[in-house]
Amino acid sequence: MHEKLSSIYDNVLRRNPGETEFHQAVREVLESIGPVLGKHPEYAESKIIERICEPERQIIFRVPWTDDRGEVQINRGFRVEFNSALGPYKGGLRFHPSVYLGIVKFLGFEQIFKNGLTGLPIGGGKGGSDFDPKGRSDREVMRFCQSFMTELYRHIGEYTDVPAGDIGVGGREIGYLFGQYKRITNRYESGVITGKGLAYGGAQVRTEATGYGCAFFVDEMLKARGTSFDGRRVAVSGSGNVAVYTIEKIEQLGGRVVACSDSSGYVLDEKGIDLDLLKQIKQVERGRLDVYAERRGDNATFVAGRSVWEVPCEVAMPSATQNEITGRDAAVMVGNGCIAVGEGANMPTTPEGIKVFLEAGVAFGPGKAANAGGVATSALEMQQNASRDSWTFEFSEHRLEEIMRDIHDRCLQTADEYGMPGDYVAGANIDGFRRVADAMLALGLI
Ligand code: GLU
Repeated sequence: MHEKLSSIYDNVLRRNPGETEFHQAVREVLESIGPVLGKHPEYAESKIIERICEPERQIIFRVPWTDDRGEVQINRGFRVEFNSALGPYKGGLRFHPSVYLGIVKFLGFEQIFKNGLTGLPIGGGKGGSDFDPKGRSDREVMRFCQSFMTELYRHIGEYTDVPAGDIGVGGREIGYLFGQYKRITNRYESGVITGKGLAYGGAQVRTEATGYGCAFFVDEMLKARGTSFDGRRVAVSGSGNVAVYTIEKIEQLGGRVVACSDSSGYVLDEKGIDLDLLKQIKQVERGRLDVYAERRGDNATFVAGRSVWEVPCEVAMPSATQNEITGRDAAVMVGNGCIAVGEGANMPTTPEGIKVFLEAGVAFGPGKAANAGGVATSALEMQQNASRDSWTFEFSEHRLEEIMRDIHDRCLQTADEYGMPGDYVAGANIDGFRRVADAMLALGLI
């Protein structure tokens, strides 16, 4: 790492003890932007990087609620408003027992550059809670969401901070959160939250956007290498919103997805994942993956407690959670003939894993770029809400596709410009950083 950047990184470590995921996210960006400082001394002079690493505002709050037995439960809520140079803070809410400040800050930090890369007017933020929705009834989830919003509402707004979903927060939770915001504020402020249902101000394609966008991005990486998804064997991790719509689009593009996973294990289905069955089990019944193999019969096997990355594939789409592909997994994948990776999740590959992929010449699409379709379509939802309009599915998907192809091209061009051809990690970090840095420079000392 550049000497100046390494002392900035040491300061980040000192000021944010124990937040390992945040350290990892900062390190990856700082390792990429050394060459930018050579060309732009003004960034260092005005301490842009030090400022970017410090969130503008961090909110931590108590979330009390009662479960179905009448027992009082206490969770912790977070919203980190990281950077508003490009627009209102924008980023999802994650409800998962692993959530603590370090996770929210890593996600918020990544979101700044991801949102910059989309070219749309959105700043970076993220929030969530250590609440675990698994096994909770709809009523419990509603009471939790209402209590969470009863504090959060005072910090957000269409022009201030616009949350959305992430792990554990989907259509059901967004509905309860928006309902409570509307009730407390007495404002039908559609643009305060995205990922809304189509019945009350949501946008076409938002549900599908992260997965579809990631498939478009990888399609473009493959095309840049003179090939395509057609006939390729693909493995996807996860079976939530991102995984499901990644599978859907890859099947439309001619690929064959043979595996997906959840926290209990993975399913191998050589004929290709049956998407209707997967949606029924995961989205309607909220069940586990072993049920998929049971119902699919002889076609599929469920492998309990093992990593999906042992399944040989030509294209890998990690769509579950952070740090799910280790250096060792990556080495196995490369050995099995993997030629492309598209990160649908945020930071699913460890630094060791990324190194293995880049050294092996794998086309590696980092989450900041490859999964930006979700937040980009959120910005399109805000645009439709602001103009009190709603677009067709076809038009919205066309916009998403254009945005993803544009992000792809800019990553490649930027990597070329800095003498690192084909390095999408460097391209994404540098392009995202420059956009935010230039806006911050123009705005004075903020
Ligand atoms: N949670 C998603 C992400 O990681 C979407 C955020 C949004 O739509 O605001 O980008």
